[in-house]
Amino acid sequence: MRLLTLCLLLLASSALIAQQYDLVIEGGRVLDPETGLDAVRNVGINGGRIARISADTLQGRRVISAKNLVVAPGFIDLHQHGQDLASERVKAFDGVSTALELEIGVPDVAQFLKSKEGHSLINYGTSASHVAARALVFGAPIGSGPSKTHAGIPEILPKSGSATDEHATPEQIEAIEKRLRTELDAGALAVGMGIQYTPGATRLEVIEMFRLAAARSVPVYTHMRSTGRVEPGSAIEATSEVIGAAAITGASLHIVHINSSCLRDAPECLSMVAGARARGLDVTTEAYPYTAGMTALNSALFNPGWREKLGISYGELVIPDTGEHLTKERFDELHNSSTTHSVLIYANTQEVVDQVIPHPLVMIASDGAEGHPRNAGTYSRIFAQYVREKQTLTLMDAVRKMTLMPAQVLERSTPAARTKGRLQEGADADIGVFDPQTISDRSTYQFPMEPSVGVHYLIVGGTVLIDQSKLVPNLFPGRAIVRPSGTQ
Ligand SMILES: [Zn+2]
Repeated sequence: MRLLTLCLLLLASSALIAQQYDLVIEGGRVLDPETGLDAVRNVGINGGRIARISADTLQGRRVISAKNLVVAPGFIDLHQHGQDLASERVKAFDGVSTALELEIGVPDVAQFLKSKEGHSLINYGTSASHVAARALVFGAPIGSGPSKTHAGIPEILPKSGSATDEHATPEQIEAIEKRLRTELDAGALAVGMGIQYTPGATRLEVIEMFRLAAARSVPVYTHMRSTGRVEPGSAIEATSEVIGAAAITGASLHIVHINSSCLRDAPECLSMVAGARARGLDVTTEAYPYTAGMTALNSALFNPGWREKLGISYGELVIPDTGEHLTKERFDELHNSSTTHSVLIYANTQEVVDQVIPHPLVMIASDGAEGHPRNAGTYSRIFAQYVREKQTLTLMDAVRKMTLMPAQVLERSTPAARTKGRLQEGADADIGVFDPQTISDRSTYQFPMEPSVGVHYLIVGGTVLIDQSKLVPNLFPGRAIVRPSGTQ
């Protein structure tokens, strides 16, 4: 009996020792949009995972006080073009622990994943680029020609030309599909399509790409074919095209930046998404909280007819670095240039953006790259403008749009996403600790890379990357999010 007591005591004390966590986040307001948890809790982290969430005191080798702060899953940005260190840095200050290039996708998946491994502040991943595969098949691969990219903007779009504007032959479509299969095998999470950047792609080519995605059980992320109200070629027609392709093929569909693709018709586009979902289709969408868009000035988006489609003219196009408003002469010069210049496009209204952001089907994604304030400010801006100022979103709904909803979209591609976007025991320790009263964007069109304020800590895979509002140097905890190999 005495021996048994001794054994029990030993067991109890070893259990106590085992409950020393790598890291404890103490006394914060813990939010988990999936379970609805919204309470003061302590979070124990071990080996990069959330091991314990409890009202009891937890012991940790390091204890962070989160008193008066919110503890939420790290934000997941499905739409981030800037994959350089400067962009990763401002994303981290904006609370983003995962930033994926899914809209268009990078030109070479294997090379991208290799270049980021061990060098990324936050988690990364990409889609397989239909735009790039098409350029490759047409003999003008992205990144190989004389085309230079200006100011660190990633080169993911081809200059307008035969590779973007001509129809593909059946043999070329087959070759595009072959390339996309290779890219999916290399770990791409989806098929990325920028149909407006490849206007030569026929409706049939689009359907064939959706078929390929369906066969591989990955979604299609798409920047739709057209914007505006001019028929044929309206935003409503473009939305019908991709929802139709999803219905025909069974592929999941994610429509990117419904705010800037649909402009004044965004509420109607959202009704179309809701209608498709009500009929059992897997259609999701996202938006960013700014009135201006940004893209490459020499891309096919600016093929003849763009002014009529967007309902704007040269003066609404602005060069980010200089604030220069374009004239016809300057536009012609830059549109024909082999150097890729980014341009801000002022085509939307605050009223539309304010209608779109709180919509329950809309998740937040930044479409970030250097030159536009959305790269650095998207997530903090939602809290500052929609939770605090306009009060059209609750704190929990805002967090849901940045964490659980994008994680659930990613689950279509990889089971690894099931442990992301949640603040639960067993989930990955990607965690943001921020002050809900002060979190704010500071980036502007004039100073687009000003980091946000209010994120006190950002933890990526259990590593404290932002510590007491400062980025810890020489840490690269970002990991690849890929589609598991061998998946069909
Ligand atoms: Zn886009």
